[in-house]
Amino acid sequence: MIRSLNLDKLNQEAHRWSSQDIIDHGIKRFGDRLSFASSFGLEDMVLLHMLKDYSIDIFYIDTGRLPIETYQLIEDAEKRYGNRFRSIHPEPDELSRYVAGYGINGFYQSVEARTACCHVRKVRPLARALDQQHAWFAGLRAEQSSYRSTLAFFEDDGYNRVRINPLKNWRWQDLWDYIDSHQVPFNRLHKQGYPSIGCQPCSRAISPGEDFRSGRWWWEKSRKKECGLHNHRRQEDAPE
Ligand code: SF4
Repeated sequence: MIRSLNLDKLNQEAHRWSSQDIIDHGIKRFGDRLSFASSFGLEDMVLLHMLKDYSIDIFYIDTGRLPIETYQLIEDAEKRYGNRFRSIHPEPDELSRYVAGYGINGFYQSVEARTACCHVRKVRPLARALDQQHAWFAGLRAEQSSYRSTLAFFEDDGYNRVRINPLKNWRWQDLWDYIDSHQVPFNRLHKQGYPSIGCQPCSRAISPGEDFRSGRWWWEKSRKKECGLHNHRRQEDAPE
C-alpha cells in the first residue's frame, strides 16, 4: 500500500493543513482500511473527540496490566462516545509462556525481560489488530521525546502501512486547552503528574522539567522510552 504513496509530497501538503484536515484526508484516502489505535492518553482523547462523528474502527490494547484509572476512563468514554471500542488482548498461550519464563512481574528484571513483555502484551496484539489495515491514527507528538522529534504527519510504520499523526505539532498545553474547551473526559492520573500513562507497573509520575516519557520504565537507563508499538523499522520490531 505504502509504495503507491508519495509520503514526502503528502507531508509537504500536510504542513498547511489543520489536524482536522489531516484526519479528513486520512479517512477519505483509506476508508474502511483505517483504524485508530487508542491508549486513552490525553492525546488520544483529543483524537477521539475529533473522530466522534466518524464510524472509523477504534481499538485499544488491554494488556491486562492497565491502571484502574484507565479502565474508569474507558467506561467514561463509552458513556460519552458510545460503546464503540474494540478491545484487543494478548494471545493467552504467548502470555502464559512469558509469565512461565520470567514471572508475573518479570519485566523489572532486565531490558530483555521488559521488552519481551511489551512484545507479547502490546506489539503482537497491535500487529493482529492492524493486520488488514492500510493506515492508522496515532496520538504521537514531536514534543514528547527527542526520539519523536522527527515525526512526520504521514509515515511508514515499517509494515507497509501508513501511521498518521495528526497531533504532531501540538504542545502539552494545546491538549489541555482542547480538553477543557470541549469537556473531553481524561485520565485522572494526568492530574497526578503522569503525562504518559501505560501499564500500571511501568508508569509513574514525573517532576517538572523531566522528559514527558521519563516516567515510563523509569528504572531503565535508555533515553529511548518506547515499547515497540511506534518503531519505524521492521528490524526494531524485536523487543527494545
Ligand atoms: Fe509489560 Fe510493562 Fe510493557 Fe506493560 S509496559 S507490556 S507491563 S513491560
